[in-house]
Amino acid sequence: MTDHAPLEWLALARGTLDRVALRRRDDAWVKAAWAAPGTRVLVVEGGRAPVVYEPSPTLAFVAPDEAPPGDRWLLGVDPSGTAYFGAAGPLPEVEGAAPAGLREVGALLEDRDSGLLTHVVALEHWHATHRFCPRCGAPTEVRSAGHVRVCTVDGSEHFPRVDPAVIMLVRDEADRILLARGPSWPADRRSVLAGFVEPGESLEQAVAREVIEEVGLAVRDVRYLGSQPWPLPRSLMLGFTARADGRAPLRPDPEEILDAAWFTREELRAAIDAGEVVAPGPLSIAAQLIMRWYGGPLPKMPLF
Ligand SMILES: [Zn+2]
Repeated sequence: MTDHAPLEWLALARGTLDRVALRRRDDAWVKAAWAAPGTRVLVVEGGRAPVVYEPSPTLAFVAPDEAPPGDRWLLGVDPSGTAYFGAAGPLPEVEGAAPAGLREVGALLEDRDSGLLTHVVALEHWHATHRFCPRCGAPTEVRSAGHVRVCTVDGSEHFPRVDPAVIMLVRDEADRILLARGPSWPADRRSVLAGFVEPGESLEQAVAREVIEEVGLAVRDVRYLGSQPWPLPRSLMLGFTARADGRAPLRPDPEEILDAAWFTREELRAAIDAGEVVAPGPLSIAAQLIMRWYGGPLPKMPLF
């Protein structure tokens, strides 16, 4: 593996459907798709959807006439032509199914279903929090099969909001990585540094700013490795690697970081084995960044 090889597997970036974005404004097409006999509806409520666990975790869909009333969001079409829609709850009773969210099943679902749940959870939160126009305060209405809201007074269009956040694996010249603990985290939690991109800032500038703010280190050789949506509630996580001088003093910002330290692979393995550090689950891009450096799954890694 080269130093800048992309991340290979990201739990929430595995969607397989054609999003048919060009069809969203075609009301006749959307109406026909909703009425087609094979159409499936994924109902979501509070970030959770019905999931069947046997024989393997799978989303439980309902037919359009079983969906709750309200807006429908066109999620996509599979290779057989079956259309998938999302709708806000209440969740339907589906035999053998139980409600689950991305944290529980985002890494366990197959690619298609992981992508569908990620998409529908993001849309649910956006619709729930953007009912009014940010310009004039009037109510907004759903358009474009759930992917635009339009102000009922001034006609302004509003698109689903996504907040970019950078997350970076900082390495030193001895190939150690920097892991830190946030103030509200459990005592055994460590992760790589991360932060939101600010207005007027490039991704690379955000990486450098966050590292110097959080631990006082200057970084160089900032490289992009991959991204995944993180609609909890509306982030897009952009993964990077960067280099820093491991001999420079660490100066953690007490408001953001309780402690920060460099780890070799052997030190990280020993800390996990001793219960001093809990390995992250595979859902997060942080786990994938650490695994990419570590060379495979971490010891005692949870399933999700
Ligand atoms: Zn308005």
